[in-house]
Amino acid sequence: MKYMKLCTLLIVLFGIEFSASAQKDKNDEDVVQEYSCSSEVPVANVFIEDTTPGRGLADNYYLWDNGKTLYVKFLSGSKSLQDKVKTIAKEWEKYANIKFQFVEVGPSHIRINLDDKGGHNSLIGTMAISIPQDEKTMNFDTTDFKTYAAMYRTVLHEFGHAIGLLHEHYSPIAGIHWNKSAVYAELKQTQGWTKEMVDVNLFQQYNVTYTNGTKYDPKSIMHYPVFARWTTDGFNVNWNNQLSEGDIALIKLLYPKDGGRLNEVPRFTISDFTSIKVTNSDVKQGISVYPSFNINTAGRSARVYFIAFFYDSDGNPIMKEGNSYSINKMAATFKSTVLDVNKKLSANKANANDFELFIPYSELPVATGKNNFQVEFRVYLLDDKELKILYQSKRSVFNFIKS
Ligand SMILES: [Zn+2]
Repeated sequence: MKYMKLCTLLIVLFGIEFSASAQKDKNDEDVVQEYSCSSEVPVANVFIEDTTPGRGLADNYYLWDNGKTLYVKFLSGSKSLQDKVKTIAKEWEKYANIKFQFVEVGPSHIRINLDDKGGHNSLIGTMAISIPQDEKTMNFDTTDFKTYAAMYRTVLHEFGHAIGLLHEHYSPIAGIHWNKSAVYAELKQTQGWTKEMVDVNLFQQYNVTYTNGTKYDPKSIMHYPVFARWTTDGFNVNWNNQLSEGDIALIKLLYPKDGGRLNEVPRFTISDFTSIKVTNSDVKQGISVYPSFNINTAGRSARVYFIAFFYDSDGNPIMKEGNSYSINKMAATFKSTVLDVNKKLSANKANANDFELFIPYSELPVATGKNNFQVEFRVYLLDDKELKILYQSKRSVFNFIKS
């Protein structure tokens, strides 16, 4: 048992509010965005509507260690374009205590797809750690690089996300008076965006703590353009083409070159997720789920929740209200523990079955004979009132026969 003191099976009511619900339960990865960048949204935002993620605005929970060297790899793109991206990205190194080392082989933290589709996007900071090594964590769409200025601001913006920055217009102190109906109508027509996509990309607001004490900065490279026709008072923001004074001040605060970071929060990461093994036992009258992963902890200690959610064979969540084996009405089982900092723990590695999430048959629509379910594994971190997603697996199909 390599795993540290994970609590024994918890049969307590889950005390925190998960707002996962069927209609929101979709991946945002196929959100296409030409208007700007769709990076932002760590999956958490899709599932959790009442937490206040993120802070000139950074998500401190997804910051890299100060002084970190990040290995960056291109998955595609011409040598000349790659060279331009490298040069632009390094602009951040002037102010942040972080290094981008571009590599062609071996493991990497950031992987860039550089071709003529997919819009621009990047995972936020350390969320990239949970992505398999053969998958991209950042996308550039060269059709949008009609001028060097457009490429320059886009590369700075996406690398800003990659080191933990959020969209500046999410700032709770921005005070933008949106003409929401005009924005919904225009982006539906020009981008094909739904109301929900506009809400996520433009109108969401983060808790004021995410500003790290900085002021709202309409000059930030992380701000979307805002057209005057989108506001009720004519307020507008043009394309920002370079790092602002606010961007520089914020990144110096987050990654100081002299001394340690002041505002440290729990920064936990999940890596090397390989599989979910699922077994059933007629003796135990239930189903055991064994997700295989590593977890690293940094920053401060915090409580983590390891959860298995259950879906039917069509992928619809199995709803289960008012029960200890349900989370926000979804059939689920979990373990929770407080983890100390600077730990490297692993679960179900090296053929061990040392970390089990168990659910009794009685909590699922199990029938005698053939059964078919899908299982999804998620990890959340809870820090005071901040609930952050650390990992969400793809669904595993599980077939079994109950005698
Ligand atoms: Zn963005």
